[in-house]
Amino acid sequence: MTTIGVLALQGAVREHIRAIHACGANAVEIKRKEQLEEIDGLILPGGESTTIRRLMDSYGIFTAIQNFADKGKPIFGTCAGLIIMAKSIVGQAEGHLGLIDMTVARNAFGRQVASFEAELDVAGIAEGFRAVFIRAPYVVEVGKNVEILATYDEHIVAVRQGPFIATAFHPELTDDHRLISYFIHLTATNKS
Ligand code: GLN
Repeated sequence: MTTIGVLALQGAVREHIRAIHACGANAVEIKRKEQLEEIDGLILPGGESTTIRRLMDSYGIFTAIQNFADKGKPIFGTCAGLIIMAKSIVGQAEGHLGLIDMTVARNAFGRQVASFEAELDVAGIAEGFRAVFIRAPYVVEVGKNVEILATYDEHIVAVRQGPFIATAFHPELTDDHRLISYFIHLTATNKS
């Protein structure tokens, strides 16, 4: 069976675990770097990207996740997770993991619209997907190897680069598990 880890330092961890179980895969909360050896794919949840990054450093797991990615293991970042996967972040000197060749803007939809829902078509994965955005970022620019999976209001909100996928919204907060299920499938294929 495929085992998916959810980085469990801060943020929407439990909702991802529940969604993974609903899709029939194993789910593990990841807090220690040794646990990365038990999993086939990793989800970086939404939350607060600066807090998650700080905790990644203090738990000594940041480099271990980079090594996990270097092995070509699938990673799915949602919301703050998307920010952590980006090569660069508007207004910041450096990105975090830099796994996807893209520039992202944090809290990009503005303070007035802290959260909203929208129906999106996610290319080849889910038509009419109800996406929940919470103080969401969006992608400002992508490199040529990045596939744009979805846009909202002309802004890029879902991307894929090889084994790495990222969404500006939270796919774990509704009962529509098509995106999580897609990630589990990608991970299972990668494993075999
Ligand atoms: N605005 C948050 C950040 O910059 C992300 C919000 C979220 O994950 N829901 O980290």
